[in-house]
Amino acid sequence: MSTFLEIESEITSQYLYDDNPRPWIVGFSGGKDSTMLLQLVWYSIKQIPAELRKRQVYVVCNNTLVENPKILKYTEEVLDKIEKAAVNQSMPVMVVRTTPKLEDSFWVNLIGKGYPAPNNAFRWCTERLKINPTTEFIKNKISEVGEAIILLGTRSEESASRARSMKKHEVEGQRLRKHVLPNAFVYAPIKDVVVTELWQYLNQVPSPWGANNKTLNALYRNANSGDCPLVIDDTTPSCGKSRFGCWVCTVVSQDKSMDGLIQNGEEWMEPLAELREMLVEYRNDPDWRQPTRRDGSEGVGPYTIEKRAYILETLLRAQKEVHETEPDISLINYQELVAIQVTWYRDNYFKFSVADIYNRVYGTELTDHDFKDHLIFEKEILKESCAESPDDYQLINELLELQKAKTIMVRARGLQNDLENRLEQFVKSN
Ligand code: SF4
Repeated sequence: MSTFLEIESEITSQYLYDDNPRPWIVGFSGGKDSTMLLQLVWYSIKQIPAELRKRQVYVVCNNTLVENPKILKYTEEVLDKIEKAAVNQSMPVMVVRTTPKLEDSFWVNLIGKGYPAPNNAFRWCTERLKINPTTEFIKNKISEVGEAIILLGTRSEESASRARSMKKHEVEGQRLRKHVLPNAFVYAPIKDVVVTELWQYLNQVPSPWGANNKTLNALYRNANSGDCPLVIDDTTPSCGKSRFGCWVCTVVSQDKSMDGLIQNGEEWMEPLAELREMLVEYRNDPDWRQPTRRDGSEGVGPYTIEKRAYILETLLRAQKEVHETEPDISLINYQELVAIQVTWYRDNYFKFSVADIYNRVYGTELTDHDFKDHLIFEKEILKESCAESPDDYQLINELLELQKAKTIMVRARGLQNDLENRLEQFVKSN
């Protein structure tokens, strides 16, 4: 284990290096590489007297909201343990959980806007789901304290192109390399560790926050999978290949990790695998796609509204089925459902409603109001005032929905245009 003791002593000296310590931001995915990295960092800092542990360490873990649920559950449990152990052991460690913005969520883009399932030619997901949330945290930290050092569990043997990229950015004679973000540096303490050494370390050295590395080992064996590292820029390879990534990932032709888990007893994941298959199979089916793009230009466009509604229903049915055995697992959240409804209104689709689809699946009696801002009383007053002309009520209502859609989705660009388009349609149809 002398190699690991050497790495620890190097991390200790890097930790103590600055007079005015720049924070360390450790990218943590719960996978083997970042677990080894964080363990080494933890043990290195533990050797330093408490009064000298002045550098703050942020453990940043991003949840894409479409993580493989089995892996997400495991990662969440580990993060809880890290938080408790940091307090109990007086470690300068803080866990930070990041998620994509609502308008960047996978389902809001795919079902709301109709973006086709991502593939290598149109991989719209990585930036929205993975890069932006962590980059935002890093940028905020830099604007607070000036500079930051990002610690990654990347290893040279993982891919030749990553090895080249790591070499290119290395600062001569130093362990830090520049990051594409200004005032950010990257430190990759385990870059020369090979996979056999990594598992040897994890199997022999106990987790300092009380997790069980055998559980991690079993997850890898059952999922027949590799790592999905924290993705912080476009030089980091896709989590595409064999990895613990998003369960919806259609960038890979086969999701080996999900298939592996199903074969090893997690049959409840079958509806997820079927939904993913459906997205792969019909991605390029002309019946599923609009004949023009979202901006109105020539070319195959987004999914038709009928297919978006169909995907939402299939997703909710899958969630209902999963709930029979795994009641805590959510495949889509309420905020996303509201944002989907809002996006449909914004794009002038009033034919389908999230409430109707939800009711069909769950037998509930929700109304459109349950998927909107609660302006129910204003609506009633409006209805009374328009008692003589229900068409006006309908139009004003739709214009209000458009305006709210723009507010909820943060990007309020184009509201004027949307309102004018809707008025134009109304005039033409009357
Ligand atoms: S795992 Fe797949 S779906 Fe998720 S961000 Fe990476 S490429 Fe996109």
